[in-house]
Amino acid sequence: MLDEDRTILVVGAGQAGGTVAATLRQYGFKGRLTLIGSEPLLPYQRPPLSKAYLKTDVPPDALKLRPRSFYDEAGISLRLGEAVTAIDAAAKTVDLAGGDVLSYDILILATGSQARKLQVPGADLDGLHELRNQADAEKLKPAVRNSRRIAIVGAGYVGLEVAASARALGTEVVVVERESRVLARVASPQLSGFVENHHRGRGVEILTDVSVTAFLGDGRGHVRALQLADGRAIACDAAVVGIGALPCDALALSAGLVCDNGVRVDAEARTSDPSIYAIGDMTSRPLALYGGRYARLESVPNALEQARQAAASITGTAPPPPEIPWFWSDQYDLKLQMAGLGSGIDRTIVRGSPETGKFALYHLSGERVVQVESVNLPTEFITAKTLLTTVRRIDPDALADLAVPIKSDRIFLADAQLV
Ligand code: FAD
Repeated sequence: MLDEDRTILVVGAGQAGGTVAATLRQYGFKGRLTLIGSEPLLPYQRPPLSKAYLKTDVPPDALKLRPRSFYDEAGISLRLGEAVTAIDAAAKTVDLAGGDVLSYDILILATGSQARKLQVPGADLDGLHELRNQADAEKLKPAVRNSRRIAIVGAGYVGLEVAASARALGTEVVVVERESRVLARVASPQLSGFVENHHRGRGVEILTDVSVTAFLGDGRGHVRALQLADGRAIACDAAVVGIGALPCDALALSAGLVCDNGVRVDAEARTSDPSIYAIGDMTSRPLALYGGRYARLESVPNALEQARQAAASITGTAPPPPEIPWFWSDQYDLKLQMAGLGSGIDRTIVRGSPETGKFALYHLSGERVVQVESVNLPTEFITAKTLLTTVRRIDPDALADLAVPIKSDRIFLADAQLV
């Protein structure tokens, strides 16, 4: 079939969906292309929602990935504010909530992830928030500004970013975490300790090793406290639940696609149905630089990489080189950047000094640097990230010394490309 005769539907107009539509055109796809999104908004960036968007008066338009004129000029049809309710993989059609049925030759799923719910008594009270999309942020903004004290359930990146933004607005913050440290699932103990101290130093109360068993109301349907498992009640005027996200894979499951903590895709972002691709937060994908191990990554770099993989596969363009998973987070004056997966770590080299607020943790497995966690060293991080794609012998003393440039051959003694 000629390219011009093919129809691609993209379901989910977020970071991955918006990017894949643009990249398909960039890579020369000339057929019909429709982007369907349940939010009534052009594709936008989510990272600022917990950062600048929450604490300053950034206008909503500033979040857009691209202006509306881009989609018009690129011939990308938009069906925004319309959810897909079903996929018929045999007939190659999707149903929209409004009743329309659209046909496809290729379907790209990019439905993202949804907030994990805390199912405890009182979870339906007013004043409880989650933060996944712009509408959530619009509700949270005034709540943070008008509260004397907010409680945050979950000390992951989103929870801690909200804590930092709330402190910037002068709101009191208490964070409750079930694990024994903040960022327990996503950061090394050293980085967790540093970040935790930073928050405490800015007045955030952090309670670890304790879970929330209920939200207590004020008798008028509004939250007034968290009930903790150890018997304490933590007073608050509003609460934010940030306990992780689950893949939006219900459509994919009902269409019979193989799913396991997200839709299973290959290195070209193809699902188990050859006509259906899936990209972004909703996928479980192989990591070429980690022996093909599967992971579900919730990050902008992952969404962009998989968008390129799918667009390249569909248009017959050369596949993009495999990337190291990486992530960033901004909290107060901290620019945190993490790259690589931290398994099999047997040694950590601290480059620079945490006391100065500028340092990096190089985690090694044997001879190889497998993960880097960087604090306020954004320029170095770009180089550090590339080191993870190579096997190198390093001089630990030289690496620990921030005065030795990261690119210096005093640090890296020999190397061989991994891929
Ligand atoms: P999304 O961007 O979530 O888009 C999915 C879209 O699909 C949504 O608009 C949804 O409404 C739509 N959709 C779902 N189901 C349907 C349906 N049935 N029909 C039609 N449309 C549907 N990442 C970083 O790398 N760095 C950060 O600092 C960072 N900070 C973040 C802060 C916050 C508050 C949040 C929420 C996320 C943050 N992330 C960050 C994660 C990053 O934003 C996501 O990894 C990225 O948006 C994933 O892109 P996606 O397209 O897969 O999903």
